[in-house]
Amino acid sequence: MEAKSVETVPMTAPIFDYLRRYRFKKVVLCNDTDIGLRAVIAIHSTALGPAAGGLRMWTYDSEEEAIMDALRLGRGMTYKYAAAGVNLGGGKAVIIGDPKKDKSEALLRAMGRMIDQLGGEYITGEDVGTTLEDMETIYSETDHVVTLPEHAGGAGDISPATALGSIQAMRACAKRVWGTPELEGKSVALQGLGMVGGKALSTLVEAGAEVVVTDIDEEKAEMAVKEFGVKAVDPEEIYSQEVDIFAPYALGAVINDDTIPQLKAKVVAGAANNILAEERHGDELERRDIVYAVDFVANSGGTIFDTDRYRKGGFQPERAVTNVRRIFERIEEIFDISERDGVAYYRAAERLAEERIEAMNKVRLLGQPDTAHY
Ligand code: NAD
Repeated sequence: MEAKSVETVPMTAPIFDYLRRYRFKKVVLCNDTDIGLRAVIAIHSTALGPAAGGLRMWTYDSEEEAIMDALRLGRGMTYKYAAAGVNLGGGKAVIIGDPKKDKSEALLRAMGRMIDQLGGEYITGEDVGTTLEDMETIYSETDHVVTLPEHAGGAGDISPATALGSIQAMRACAKRVWGTPELEGKSVALQGLGMVGGKALSTLVEAGAEVVVTDIDEEKAEMAVKEFGVKAVDPEEIYSQEVDIFAPYALGAVINDDTIPQLKAKVVAGAANNILAEERHGDELERRDIVYAVDFVANSGGTIFDTDRYRKGGFQPERAVTNVRRIFERIEEIFDISERDGVAYYRAAERLAEERIEAMNKVRLLGQPDTAHY
């Protein structure tokens, strides 16, 4: 559950200034002296539903750093869910400590109890330094855990849903550039053949796209060549391919000062998180008429699928997949806002989120409880 980065104020700003400026709901400091738990739960917004976001465990240099990390990431989750059309608010929790040395069943269960005491206002999940197994341990103390293995009632592997959503985003971009969402005959440079990229590859080949692939793991690239008859290139050659679409499925910050001049593609769409090294690189893509599927919406399919069980009636696979497919419309909405307000796509995605939250805040004023099931 990775959050997008949003504008921050300097770390030296007093916490309450930060809370007021970014309209945070609350921050909970958790302590269990006997067990050695020191944790922060930041709840940014519950306007759209309970605040959800992963639980990070990290060796922070200071308490301020841990609090600021929870705040920054929690606010990012509000935007991510709101723009993706998920009815959840944003939050994040962090445990101060080294996950390799300090993590224990007792610590995780103590954290689970802290989360439980919030009565569903915050829902947790795995993140850096925590695993699905840890979530199972926390689940023994609280129901408010979203990412769980299938045997514990969770959605299990969400990468197929992430892949489906990212292809929907790619189709929306194709429609904007070429007037049709069809990917038949389109050439795609696909970077990264992991859990999501591998599935995106088979969908693209099935759709009739011509795909060039790369992976730092040569075995994966060779497998793709053998299984799908696609061409493979060295990792550093992927940016300059003569293709219609550049599809990042590996790491973040791949759109940067070095790579943008190499791109021949008219579309950048994939599932990688934090694709833009800096926001100005989003502006630069647009200056070059390259259509970009904003990453935190394009890669939200897994989250949409995973969180379906929090909707009325519990998990319904058909509804979950239908909502993943709607990423197409979300990306089109971003294009519309970008045109309406004359702003870059990444900014338009933030506005999409802000407008949804604002509308729901008005509904709340009519008396609807803000953490009710939706
Ligand atoms: P993964 O680790 O299974 O796959 C990443 C692949 O990229 C690996 O095969 C790796 O060898 C390759 N790779 C790494 N560096 C590379 C480079 N420089 N050039 C080419 N290939 C490189 O990860 P994943 O779960 O498939 O996720 C891929 C991306 O999508 C990540 O950025 C992740 O944060 C994001 N994402 C994933 C999900 C999900 O459901 N798994 C959800 C949202 C976002």
